[in-house]
Amino acid sequence: MSKETKSPQNKLVNGYEVVIGFETHTQLTTQSKIFSRAPTAFGAEPNTQACAVDLALPGALPVMNKGAVTRAIEFGLAVNAHIAEKSIFARKNYFYPDLPKGYQISQFEIPVVQGGVVEFFLDGEGKSVRLVRAHLEEDAGKSLHEDFVGMSGIDLNRAGTPLLEIVTEPDLRSSAEAVAYAKELHKIVTWIGICDGNMQEGSFRCDANVSVRKPGAPLGTRREIKNLNSFKFMQQAMDYEVRWQIGELEEGRAIEQATVLFDPDTGETRSMRSKEDAADYRYFPDPDLPPLVIGRDWVERVRSEMSELPRVMAARFVADYGLSEYDAGQLTQSKAMAAYFEACAQASGEPKLSANWILGELSAALKTADVGIENAHVGPMQLASIITAMKNGLLASSGAKVVFKEFWAAGRQQFDDLIAAFAALERVVSEKNLGLMSDSGELETIIDNVLAANAKNVEQVRAGNAKAFNALVGQAMKATQGKANPAQVNELLKKKLA
Ligand code: ADP
Ligand code: MG
Repeated sequence: MSKETKSPQNKLVNGYEVVIGFETHTQLTTQSKIFSRAPTAFGAEPNTQACAVDLALPGALPVMNKGAVTRAIEFGLAVNAHIAEKSIFARKNYFYPDLPKGYQISQFEIPVVQGGVVEFFLDGEGKSVRLVRAHLEEDAGKSLHEDFVGMSGIDLNRAGTPLLEIVTEPDLRSSAEAVAYAKELHKIVTWIGICDGNMQEGSFRCDANVSVRKPGAPLGTRREIKNLNSFKFMQQAMDYEVRWQIGELEEGRAIEQATVLFDPDTGETRSMRSKEDAADYRYFPDPDLPPLVIGRDWVERVRSEMSELPRVMAARFVADYGLSEYDAGQLTQSKAMAAYFEACAQASGEPKLSANWILGELSAALKTADVGIENAHVGPMQLASIITAMKNGLLASSGAKVVFKEFWAAGRQQFDDLIAAFAALERVVSEKNLGLMSDSGELETIIDNVLAANAKNVEQVRAGNAKAFNALVGQAMKATQGKANPAQVNELLKKKLA
């Protein structure tokens, strides 16, 4: 295996270095199973979506789903991996009630995707994690414990669902780094559309392999936390596990390799079984499936059809729009958000203001309403109209926020161009009387009143106190209900106090 990467700021926990490697099962977005024509849709009546092939009934033969292979190729290209020209399916033998056929079809010695790198930012610092491999495999069924007393049910609908299991080198050095990696991976697979990323439904499940060691010592023994399906639990589970392992070592006990589960109710991990090794699975090539052969023309066709990747797009946002790397990363969280940003930035000619509004006001509104950006009540042209109105001196930032809220409350409207959106904005501005004061006579009267009412401040300003001047600006802005142009207020005050 290749050499370890050095991270400049490997934080120690109680004098121990944390080492983490991730295995992620991503469910691929195909309509049918990996080796059969049974549907993959989530939530159907138990046992209505598994066919003879999924159950490996005698005489049934698996046939490779081409769509699953295309998705594996797309992933490989997205992470700069090698796509094997020839990979092999193997049987991983084990017994479990949700796997009545007694083996899982997976790839063992020769996986379809080999190597590759995932790059991401953590606290402004660039990180990269090497991938060992990504292999195609079928999912197993599910045991149902809830609706039964004294027994368990089995639902085999998920049996044969296509998965791509993505395995990293043990390159991660903290739980925060591991979560950032998982988020980046989630972003990549949803961006390229090979996985819907739905963590509650189990479309993106992570196993975290965690060990600790004294700096410079060989790798410690790992314990594998299974099936983490939320970023929050992921972090909690790894933090608990790290503390637990250090506690054991400090007490003089050795860590035993094990598979553990995280219990969100107690916040603890507990051992499920002692870890089995590859030999326990008696892998052998599946005699029902020929080697998977991928011609270079297939790879090139897939490459030519792929859209710009999030990291490439983020770099372009930095170069073309002058955004910070952090903002560019946030705005390329999803394709829909990136498209929203570009539309707004281009229409308003103000990329930085667009970024601030999208990551601030808009993101907060989306969160409160619990809707995705593709269903935002304020569309990119409406936001561009608000930014344009501020730029043109028609709206102050307080008024802009009111327009935003009014737009949002009006529900989702479609504006294809800035002119139509601006007309809608002008209606709101006049209805709500939000326009900035352009009448300097009116403003002068207000300022005279403010000066009369704040004689003490005026005195202090004359004595050279800059803070007192700011207080007067604030008073004047308040008196105009934020409708004055602050620059104009400034100018008038200076003139009057000179
Ligand atoms: P298996 O397939 O049996 O789970 P692998 O050797 O393929 O075992 O490793 C699985 C995962 O565990 C990989 O992501 C790898 O990076 C990680 N890993 C291996 N050794 C360690 C270790 N000592 N500490 C933390 N993670 C590890
Ligand atoms: Mg494993």
